[in-house]
Amino acid sequence: MIAVVKSTATTQQLDQLVAWIEGRGFKTNVSQGDNETLVGIIGDTTQIDPFILESMDLVERVQRVSEPFKLANRKFHPEDTVVDCGHGVLVGGGSFQVIAGPCSVEGDNLIEIARAVRAAGATMLRGGAYKPRTSPYAYQGMGERGLDLLMEAGGELDMPVVTEVMDPRDVELFVSKGVDVMQVGARNAQNFTLLKELGRTSTPVLLKRGMSQTIDELVMSAEYVMSEGNPNVMLCERGIRTFETRTRNTFDVNAIPVLHHLTHLPVVGDPSHATGYTRYVRSAAYAATAAGADALEIEVHDCPSKAWSDGAQALTPEQFADAMRRIALIREAVCAPIEEA
Ligand code: PEP
Ligand code: MN
Repeated sequence: MIAVVKSTATTQQLDQLVAWIEGRGFKTNVSQGDNETLVGIIGDTTQIDPFILESMDLVERVQRVSEPFKLANRKFHPEDTVVDCGHGVLVGGGSFQVIAGPCSVEGDNLIEIARAVRAAGATMLRGGAYKPRTSPYAYQGMGERGLDLLMEAGGELDMPVVTEVMDPRDVELFVSKGVDVMQVGARNAQNFTLLKELGRTSTPVLLKRGMSQTIDELVMSAEYVMSEGNPNVMLCERGIRTFETRTRNTFDVNAIPVLHHLTHLPVVGDPSHATGYTRYVRSAAYAATAAGADALEIEVHDCPSKAWSDGAQALTPEQFADAMRRIALIREAVCAPIEEA
């Protein structure tokens, strides 16, 4: 971290600043130029609040030279992390997986949807049993019975199950049911109590980007899980909130290569929540695939107009099968190594 000191600062003020920094256990390196003085702060600067420094009258600005995340940082862990989701499904490190299923678990149609998505090539089954709804009056999910239906379907089809956990008090129940991947929804992306609780398990976590979360903040959320001991984190771009109103969210496809650059964690693209409308979901899925996502998460419903949640963005099993064929072609065209002539 570097503090740029104003040219008007006196030697006495500079000495006071250095003493303040060193008093907190850091080393300093002062470099006096013609127009400005730089104070390099050496040590674990995650422990220092840059805003405190910046609020000091003699400090012009503060610049970080290393990211505040360590465990998720590719600099310290150059190889891709591969998350073992069970049932032989690995996410990251060059493989490609598709998570598909309904927004909510609704009952007997789950197994029908699961069979259809599996036949089309999906490798993981999704479905929400506990639903984070904007309105407390909207459908809240089947709860524990929903988890049981998911686990039955996953067992029958030999597919890992991905489902959202909203409350730290439910984590133990999810683990005891054998849930393969615990999803953290966008609305809980900075629920640090939940993130820490998930970090105390070894169950893979699919961490969705908060709707107003910067990429760095998303990585810091991953850091919360990892710092408690669980390295099995996958990051999910699911669209962010912008001024655009034609789509539910704005798919930040840039985030996929940026996250790959910054971290070694697998990156998942969710074109369903990113767009909000069935007619756009496939285009966004293709973009995410071409951008190098390690997996996609796509909502599929046997009868979208009757879905209990997110029907407007669900693909039918037929649309999903069509998308899967094109996704395979995109993977081959964009992601396969090209042999040098
Ligand atoms: C979901 O996956 O159904 C969901 C609620 O997603 P998000 O948290 O990204 O809105
Ligand atoms: Mn949904």
